[in-house]
Amino acid sequence: MYSNEDDATNSMIHLIKPAPVPINENGDNGRNAYANRQNSVLDENALRKDDTTFIRDQRIQTISQNYEVILESIGEDPSRQGLLKTPKRAAEALVFFTKGYEQSIRDVVSDAIFDEECENMVVVKGIDIYSLCEHHMVPFFGKVSVGYLPNKRVLGLSKVARIVEVFSRRLQVQERLTRQIAEAIAEAIQPRGVAVVIECIHMCMVMRGAEKVNSRTTTSAMLGVFREDPKSREEFLSLGRIAPFY
Ligand SMILES: [Zn+2]
Repeated sequence: MYSNEDDATNSMIHLIKPAPVPINENGDNGRNAYANRQNSVLDENALRKDDTTFIRDQRIQTISQNYEVILESIGEDPSRQGLLKTPKRAAEALVFFTKGYEQSIRDVVSDAIFDEECENMVVVKGIDIYSLCEHHMVPFFGKVSVGYLPNKRVLGLSKVARIVEVFSRRLQVQERLTRQIAEAIAEAIQPRGVAVVIECIHMCMVMRGAEKVNSRTTTSAMLGVFREDPKSREEFLSLGRIAPFY
């Protein structure tokens, strides 16, 4: 069904050249350069992409030690039986919740771009999302619907969910997450348009009682045709409608 798989991949890599990495005044092009990088989703290096098992173990150890301090700081006794293994478990959980820092979007999409004459709207809806809000490091969760209008290229369907996974397993704000998913698809296959709608419940709102308990936050990003043409937008919004999940 799909042809020229290799050509499509090569042409993408050829087309999207890595932006030059700016070097700061200390000559450091490592972590700081990440913050100053060119604004291209596909050129982004994941923060923990080069983690070895050794570095990962060190991370877990450091986070565990800090969780022990946190337990003490909230007035608990980290040496009581139920809490003995909590710092390590919590550290492993946190590393898992942020595993989106281990992968770049280029790795996810590079072997899954296919030449296809399809011009019809592609909609992947109701993708589960679990993320951590970067203001409180408390979960927010919900559903995502993604739609795009192909321009001679399509993305392997499972890759849409993978893109969502990579961006959501990082510290996030819902608005940025929405935009990043749309921009990643736009850059990867250069479609005529991309639309993303996310609906989430934020535990930092629900548990702190600051807002209505059941309030959900909806964000959307519309690029290309979806931004310009109300008909395409409406078609996506009816096809991609997110069913109540809570
Ligand atoms: Zn929050």
